Amino acid sequence: MTSFPATFPATFTDFLGNSHAIEGLRTAIAAGRLPHSLILAGPQGAGKYTLALMLAMAVECERQPRELWSTGQSLASYCGVCANCTRIASAADLQVLVDNAVAAREDLRETDKKETRVLIQQHPDVLIVPPDPPQLLIKLGQVRTVIQRAQYLPSEGPRKLFIFTASNFMKEAANSLLKLLEEPPDYAHLILCVENIGELLPTIRSRCAVVRLGALPIEELEMLLADRRPEWQPKHRTLVARLAQGAAGKALGFDLEGFTAARADALVMLRGAGDDHSALFKMTETYRAGADGQVKTSMLLRTMGLLLEDLMLLQAGTPELVRNVDMRGELERMAAAVTFGWIEGASRGLDQVTSGMRRNLLRNLSLDAFAEQLANQG
Ligand SMILES: [Zn+2]
Repeated sequence: MTSFPATFPATFTDFLGNSHAIEGLRTAIAAGRLPHSLILAGPQGAGKYTLALMLAMAVECERQPRELWSTGQSLASYCGVCANCTRIASAADLQVLVDNAVAAREDLRETDKKETRVLIQQHPDVLIVPPDPPQLLIKLGQVRTVIQRAQYLPSEGPRKLFIFTASNFMKEAANSLLKLLEEPPDYAHLILCVENIGELLPTIRSRCAVVRLGALPIEELEMLLADRRPEWQPKHRTLVARLAQGAAGKALGFDLEGFTAARADALVMLRGAGDDHSALFKMTETYRAGADGQVKTSMLLRTMGLLLEDLMLLQAGTPELVRNVDMRGELERMAAAVTFGWIEGASRGLDQVTSGMRRNLLRNLSLDAFAEQLANQG
């Protein structure tokens, strides 16, 4: 019924875990008392960013649906189909939007590049502020834009929202945000997604209401997957639960088929394809340029990063932290056959290919060079 990304919760009840915190927030929105400066605190995978978008939808939804609780409480919801809801939900896949914004910036002239900060805006009244790559810090220029935009009344919804997707501020950026956090206009709400609240400046923390979210334990995620993804093998459910790191939405929407295919290719590359390099290049050739190729290549590089991390974990003597649990035996054999220096070299090569992709190099060319490097190194 909606044009949401498949993994986005269609209603508040589809957001798993943390039901008490969420009821509190929905009640506040229904009563028009959503805090103007709000911290959503919780570990990676707890769904902070997704929840921030859901709150924005509940605030901006054209239909303002309400659920009546047995206690007589009214809970805010979102319809998920109006123009406000769908535009806000289209920001769900943050990484893709950030990658596109970074790629667009790469194409600018050097002088303009320095001035351009990455900001995501799918709805005119909802501005999303991610950490700015490559340093991944929230910078002064981003905060200045927020301060400036906050002076203008909302144009299409009843309120204006500013969502900071992480809280690693540069010092001057944090300081310049203080005044707005303290005295935001009536129509403005700032939401900060914070992983480690202890690292926030006390001056920021003291100006915000704090709502804490917990990640789902891995066992609970596995049970959820057993219920919703019975067609998956148990070893794959364990794998996905680990990879999702407590995030139910991520686990349920996980592309297991795409992941295992990409991982098989990543393994071919890591093994250097033995003596038969032609098999290797036949494989890299299937990674074409264009939007499809980009998604496929990103998945390949991500799975390769995971494999290399697992190899490091095995060499470091912490096998319990390995995430590719369904192929641990094979990884153990690989880890025994390579040196730490080899893994480091491969990781560096991987970083180069990843940043090369950001610069829009011909994708299979840089993959080929990387594959060759791995093969020669081995
Ligand atoms: Zn709506």
